[in-house]
Amino acid sequence: MSSSSSSSSSLPLQTLKIGIVGFGTFGQFLAKTMMKQGHTTRATSRTDYSQLCHQLDVAFFRDVIPFLEADNDVILICTSILSLSEVLNSMPLRRLKRHTLFVDVLSVKEHPRNVLLQVLPENMDVLCTHPMFGPESGKNGWKDLPLVYEKVRVRNETRMVEMSCEEHDKVAARSQFLSHSIGRILAEMEIESTSMNTKSFETLVKLKESATNDSFDLFSGLFIHNRFAQQELMNLEQSFEKVKQRLLKKMSEQQSLSSV
Ligand code: NAP
Repeated sequence: MSSSSSSSSSLPLQTLKIGIVGFGTFGQFLAKTMMKQGHTTRATSRTDYSQLCHQLDVAFFRDVIPFLEADNDVILICTSILSLSEVLNSMPLRRLKRHTLFVDVLSVKEHPRNVLLQVLPENMDVLCTHPMFGPESGKNGWKDLPLVYEKVRVRNETRMVEMSCEEHDKVAARSQFLSHSIGRILAEMEIESTSMNTKSFETLVKLKESATNDSFDLFSGLFIHNRFAQQELMNLEQSFEKVKQRLLKKMSEQQSLSSV
């Protein structure tokens, strides 16, 4: 996360105390980059990441109460889409001692907005974001990579690309969910690189690899908690059927021509 003063070299960098909820693949990736940016990070998660956090110089809290009381400027929600509700509802959020900005990074947007507004005390700010990058594409930092966000309830302004949660989910169902689905289909087909790859086929192999590098929880969350995803799955199925029918029709035309 860039601080409010951004990464522009002419501006001083404001360092923040950032608490991370959910220290899986994406949470760890964010923590490593934010540490490099000079922010202080602390984390809590279902799994005990004490050892890893020790190596990374991130404070790890097994107990969520001291985590909430640890004077966080920002709390980043990095849990899976499927577990968000359970995780937030299990946190004693009334124990928060100070005004905090809650930022979620889930790859669907209406769902976390609704849950955050439901569980958070009124004096907590809410920023719903979707970083359009991951540990691989963001491994050299995320400057210049897109991040979609909606300031759901934010008193302090920051500089980013704004989009409503609804619009985000509509667009993401047609882009991100679609590419994950096709990647998963290609994985089911067990496609592998060959000795005579075309550029297009290499793109397909990369798509398969990138889709299967993400957890199935992430993929199913994109489907279950994005109300526009089901329609896209149906569109995919119908389009597949149309292409197949066109091929079969052409084949039967050719066969009848050659039999004349
Ligand atoms: P993920 O499988 O979507 O989420 C893994 C995280 O969820 C871990 O921190 C895990 O905790 C936690 N979790 C899962 N089930 C849980 C449960 N029942 N109770 C408590 N915690 C639970 O994989 P991810 O790649 O790390 O993604 C995290 C979030 O970032 C997701 O919401 C995803 O949509 C978003 N995101 C990911 C990417 C990406 O490229 N990976 C990009 C943008 C946004 P433990 O590790 O403690 O088990």
